[in-house]
Amino acid sequence: MKTLRQQIITLLTATELSAPELASALQIKEKEVCEHLGHIDRSLSAAGRKLNMRPSSCRKCGYVFAGRKRFTRPSRCPRCKSTYLEQPLFRISGD
Ligand SMILES: [Zn+2]
Repeated sequence: MKTLRQQIITLLTATELSAPELASALQIKEKEVCEHLGHIDRSLSAAGRKLNMRPSSCRKCGYVFAGRKRFTRPSRCPRCKSTYLEQPLFRISGD
């Protein structure tokens, strides 16, 4: 039986997923996914691999949340104030 973190690593090595997609695949809360991603990021760095995040963007004006380092998603666009945002997507590279 794999741990949750191992399952997340397996999923993100195979495909690019958002936090809500991971949450529903693993039957846990999105907030828990974000916590696990923080730990996974640190343990992967130590192993020479990388957790890549494709940043959120605004579906209305196209603003990209490029400087964002946290794994939670922003709630609204700082430029146009829209809450219609693209989810950040995660993927693991290297081996
Ligand atoms: Zn916007």
